[in-house]
Amino acid sequence: MRIVIKVGTSTLAHSTGNINIRHVEELCKVMSDLKNAGHEIILVSSGAIGMGVGKLSLKEKPQDMPTKQAAAAVGQCELMYTYDKLFSEYNHTVAQILLTGLDLEDNERYHNIQNTMNRLLELNVLPIINENDTVSTHEIAVGDNDTLGAIVAVSMKADLLVLLSDIDGLYTADPHKSENAELISVVEKITPEIESLGGGKGSSLGTGGMVTKLNAAKLCMSKGTDMVIANGSNPSVLYDIVDGEKIGTKFIANKI
Ligand code: GLU
Repeated sequence: MRIVIKVGTSTLAHSTGNINIRHVEELCKVMSDLKNAGHEIILVSSGAIGMGVGKLSLKEKPQDMPTKQAAAAVGQCELMYTYDKLFSEYNHTVAQILLTGLDLEDNERYHNIQNTMNRLLELNVLPIINENDTVSTHEIAVGDNDTLGAIVAVSMKADLLVLLSDIDGLYTADPHKSENAELISVVEKITPEIESLGGGKGSSLGTGGMVTKLNAAKLCMSKGTDMVIANGSNPSVLYDIVDGEKIGTKFIANKI
């Protein structure tokens, strides 16, 4: 299987912005093992701004663009250093790919990205993608990595996109507010009812939330890629997801 895995800041970093060593180590181990089992893995990793906040000892996620971009520049180094180190332990080579919305809209750039990614996969490398936050301004940014993950999954014709987040999946109501909220395990169509469940915002350091995840699902489903939202606090759920077990919320692609 070709699998795109998107990991949110809430999984990679503590609320202080410092790296969540347990999560990241476990995640790299499981992804390495899935690669060893013959799957092609592409990682879309957030966490640059969050880790920059930690490394620069800022009190909270910055609101102004230059500080956000500075934090991303610092945090992206930390992120890739960590991935390179951990994946090396399992003999896997990683590559960094930083993209903006502009790169994906321009035909030539888009094809260059696809060519590079395909060659990296042929070379058995694990591509790690993030938005190029240092050059992205509002106008040219994809804006959130749920969407970026979906675009990457669709353009690389992946079988599956997994969004690892700090929530178990899509609920019938906000589980933080309602005791009766139930996890929806399968979604076959994004109806207006499903869309109305997208309300909540993301974590304090991250960017997305359920709205961006539902948009990602729409894109994937329309282009033949299944998508799963699952909780990243236990990365070994990836094994079960790949085995087709009922974990989190699965969005089934429209059969073309
Ligand atoms: N590119 C952002 C970062 O690395 C994350 C965007 C997102 O989480 O959706 O901090």
